[in-house]
Amino acid sequence: MAPSPFDDWIAGASDDPVLANLRQCREQLWINPRRGAFDRVKQQLPLSYTDIEDASARLERFAAYFSVAFPETAARGGIIESDLVRADRGAKLIAEFLHSDVPDNLLIKCDSHLAISGSIKARGGIYEVLLYAEQLALEHGLLNADDDYSDFASEPFRQLFARHSIAVGSTGNLGLSIGIISAKLGFRVTVHMSADAREWKKALLRSKGVNVVEHQSDYSVAVAQGRQEALNTPGCHFIDDEDSTSLFLGYSVAALRLKQQLAAQNIPVDAEHPLIVYLPCGVGGGPGGIAFGLKQVFGDAVHCFFAEPTHSPCMLLGMHSGLHNHISVQDIGLDNLTCADGLAVGRASAFVGKIMEPLLDGIYTLSDERMYALVTLLSDSEKLAVEPSATAGLPGFAWLMNASQETLEALGLASTLRNATHIAWATGGNMVPEQEMAKYYALGTQALEQFSQKQLK
Ligand SMILES: *Cc1c(COP(=O)(O)O)cnc(C)c1O
Repeated sequence: MAPSPFDDWIAGASDDPVLANLRQCREQLWINPRRGAFDRVKQQLPLSYTDIEDASARLERFAAYFSVAFPETAARGGIIESDLVRADRGAKLIAEFLHSDVPDNLLIKCDSHLAISGSIKARGGIYEVLLYAEQLALEHGLLNADDDYSDFASEPFRQLFARHSIAVGSTGNLGLSIGIISAKLGFRVTVHMSADAREWKKALLRSKGVNVVEHQSDYSVAVAQGRQEALNTPGCHFIDDEDSTSLFLGYSVAALRLKQQLAAQNIPVDAEHPLIVYLPCGVGGGPGGIAFGLKQVFGDAVHCFFAEPTHSPCMLLGMHSGLHNHISVQDIGLDNLTCADGLAVGRASAFVGKIMEPLLDGIYTLSDERMYALVTLLSDSEKLAVEPSATAGLPGFAWLMNASQETLEALGLASTLRNATHIAWATGGNMVPEQEMAKYYALGTQALEQFSQKQLK
């Protein structure tokens, strides 16, 4: 058999400490050696600020539709957006747990509480469905550019969409967002769920008329099977989480909104006052789109880090090896099993890692026990209920505060870290049933006990 592209890399990396940590599921911070000054790299990027503005304008056009079709969005004028909140009590408790100094400015971006689907997927997932719906409406002469988009809730539009279908493969949260918006617009929609998807998510989707197909395999296989089935179905649009520019751009709009929120709270972002953002990463589109947007808005004043489970570090593996989607965590002996919904991805997106190469500061990993413990700490300190994956951004500040002088200098943060604003992006949780959340909390309490016992020894 011909050797796979990853065999050579793995063989050549036998004394690579990063690979050793990955294989042993040890938490680590990886610094991206390929990042560069934004002004220098921005010309080489395949997407630009104009693309983000275009996506943002589209979401504004659809605001009139959301106000009508999803009344819970009316309070924000039909714009799906989340709060940015200070977490002073959380900062203290979490810093103590992680043995770091307490950061002066820790904020949480509450995508856990986004309208419609309660996760970050309410950005990219919904955006791609809207883009498709708008294209269909234009092609079929139902829409003129200056029309009132609340018409998307009307019968002629629903009849048009009923003749088209949408399919997606998901570990759960993307399926929720695509399923809910597609069914509401009137599309026939199929969600291919991986084996780790929660029962309650499948039940919720079925209750909304979504066709849920269950697969006995992990996310990548569910996506591949969904893609194949969509190809065989005429008039079916497949939303490809592994390779979609429109999903990516839908996420990126968050950066324009965040800029406004920071300004409204009088939080400076400049060379002396860096913004450091920690984003939980699955296949990469969500955190990648947001990081891309933030770099376009803030340039070198923003530093972005991704966070991944120790059992599913697909982006770290892809970027560190340079093999991107040509290597999977299974190829280095990992099981890709984690409690972190949305992050149980073994192979990174085909294009996100490449776009991130010059933009991303680094990636760190964390264990499932760490995530459970953080669920409990965040609930105790800030009364915020999030799912385990959504806590992955919380340890980011501690990695930096405990970093060596050398690392901080490499990141350009040696003299400015103390002025930094840290944002942990909380990516999901609001739809989790109370009973499930109580289980997470209990597991977190247990995990905290185990961490403190280890400490005493
Ligand atoms: C999907 C998801 C992410 C990560 O997004 P990707 O685009 O898969 O990288 C993070 N957190 C939660 C809760 C998610 O559902």
